[in-house]
Amino acid sequence: MNLDLTTEQSAFRDEVRAFIRERLPQDIRERLRQGYLPRKQDTVRWQRILAERGWAAPHWPRAYGGAELGQIERIILLDELQRAPAPVPQVFNINMLGPVLLKFGSERQKAWFLPRLANLDLWFCQGFSEPGAGSDLAALRTLARREGEHYVVNGQKIWTSTAHVADWMFALVRTDAQAQRHRGISFLLIDLKTPGVTVRPIRSIDGAHHLNEIFLQDVRVPVENLVGEEGQGWECARFLLANERSGIANVGACRERLAYARELAARTRRGRHRLADDPHLRHELALLDAELRALEVTNQRFLLTPSAQAAMPAFASVLKLRGTALQQQLHGLLVRLGGAGVREHVDDEDVDGIPHLVERYLFARAGSIYGGTSEIQRDLVAKTLLG
Ligand SMILES: Cc1cc2nc3c(=O)[nH]c(=O)nc-3n(C[C@H](O)[C@H](O)[C@H](O)COP(=O)(O)OP(=O)(O)OC[C@H]3O[C@@H](n4cnc5c(N)ncnc54)[C@H](O)[C@@H]3O)c2cc1C
Repeated sequence: MNLDLTTEQSAFRDEVRAFIRERLPQDIRERLRQGYLPRKQDTVRWQRILAERGWAAPHWPRAYGGAELGQIERIILLDELQRAPAPVPQVFNINMLGPVLLKFGSERQKAWFLPRLANLDLWFCQGFSEPGAGSDLAALRTLARREGEHYVVNGQKIWTSTAHVADWMFALVRTDAQAQRHRGISFLLIDLKTPGVTVRPIRSIDGAHHLNEIFLQDVRVPVENLVGEEGQGWECARFLLANERSGIANVGACRERLAYARELAARTRRGRHRLADDPHLRHELALLDAELRALEVTNQRFLLTPSAQAAMPAFASVLKLRGTALQQQLHGLLVRLGGAGVREHVDDEDVDGIPHLVERYLFARAGSIYGGTSEIQRDLVAKTLLG
């Protein structure tokens, strides 16, 4: 990140870099560099190392395992992790549920869940989307009927990332079918080991198993697992989605992929020439660099200008649109460079990881769907920024 940092912020960045250099396991770094997504065990191992410093949950209060970092320090940390590359703290636990519990949760919920979320003793997934309720989330139909000290939950969730390796799910459920549709929704924490929960895999275009559908049949959830008041689920969800969007530009991740593209171009030959000397490729890399710089500056304006932040969610939508498009472009370029390496290069060890570049390229297509599709983001920009 090229912000004009204060002396303290520069010192913090150096501290983060030194920490990553010393503590990030090399095998994890190398897998990510080659284009693999982090596995659960990679994220758990690294997050526990970060947790020792409070950096697993950088913006949370110290009392619950955080480091109380300010916005700029938090972004510096994220940027350095992405550039390393290292797994970022598990987003469902840290960026989504944690802040919701801090704002809406009971003291018991905070004391019990937050330290376990930070240390990844519990892995949460996000049960929002349903068949027929994605962009129009308030159309959700999963029903939670109160019976004494329990809710009895019936319904279906879909596209639930990592549910097959998760321990718990935070879910939006309908607790009042008669109320106006946004008002009848509540936010529940569901232990996935509860009888009546069935998790089924969905294979995505990259051939991998990230996604699932979840069937809930007469699942009994203790009332103490309701977050906030009954009917306050939509407010929790809006707060959660706003948090999800911070750091959404993923500038560090784009920078890391651009550096890897340059590295591949430098060590791949076509005949007697290095790909890096090809004027068309140099032009493409320079354009990507400039686009990325523009995204960085926009991101900085967003972070440093209160009026820009007040324009949320539209400003965050701009960052998501551009960040996603750049990531997709970069993954496309890497596949082309990797392919050129397979065909042209004599040294086998240089073609490591190329199938994973293809998988990552395919997975990156989903970036313009999850977290709100590009069409929805453009709609928000049109309504809020353009009037
Ligand atoms: C890889 C991946 C991981 C995901 N992980 C999770 C997860 O962990 N938990 C979870 O709850 N969900 C998850 N999702 C679901 C995701 O949030 C939804 O797919 C997304 O919100 C879109 O909803 P939908 O799929 O129902 O599409 P729809 O809402 O049916 O949209 C279909 C198409 O219509 C367009 N469209 C819809 N409404 C409008 C409109 N008003 N104006 C213009 N165009 C419109 C959309 O842009 C899209 O192109 C994930 C999705 C993917 C792809």
